[in-house]
Amino acid sequence: MDAADMGDDLERVLISEERLGARLDEIAAQIDADYAGKDLLLVGVLKGAVMVMADLARRLHTPVEMDWMAVSSYGSGTKSSGVVRILKDLDADLTDRHVLIVEDIIDSGLTLSWLLSNLRSRNPGSVEIATMLRKPDAAKVEVDVRYVGFEIANEFVVGYGLDYNERYRNLPFVGTLAPHVYAD
Ligand code: 5GP
Repeated sequence: MDAADMGDDLERVLISEERLGARLDEIAAQIDADYAGKDLLLVGVLKGAVMVMADLARRLHTPVEMDWMAVSSYGSGTKSSGVVRILKDLDADLTDRHVLIVEDIIDSGLTLSWLLSNLRSRNPGSVEIATMLRKPDAAKVEVDVRYVGFEIANEFVVGYGLDYNERYRNLPFVGTLAPHVYAD
């Protein structure tokens, strides 16, 4: 799916596929340097992190294990409820492992701060966070994030894994939707 497949649903492209890829090259190089010689477990948060997980993992030279968690923090609208539920837990035992949570976006930070304390309670060697996008103006809780792709304004975005009512996840870029999409 690309901009041409969206009819008039696309308002604008915020971050192009090229910019996302170039930033991931830089982040992957940092992660390789930081985790050299370490046993790294990437934890992707479904469903939004699928794209960034796939694109980040294949750029790493460090051998990694990949595991997935599904949590729900959003309904079908655009506001975070702050209520987090585990829909699918990890398969891996985290004891003494170096864990890197891979996220699509940090908005209020509520989901992530919950996830952090949940994973920290499992006796890992370390837990860090990598996110493709962060909305600093929307933060309700401060979370220490080691790797940030792009900081964006406090507006609702789709693409590159992010959906609106389960649509637009397969856009290769991050963009905003025309107002009529929300009204329809
Ligand atoms: P938080 O708990 O940080 O407010 O929200 C985290 C989750 O909300 C993200 O993993 C994502 O699923 C969803 N979310 C937050 N902001 C956006 C956005 O701008 N667009 C989309 N599609 N989802 C968002």
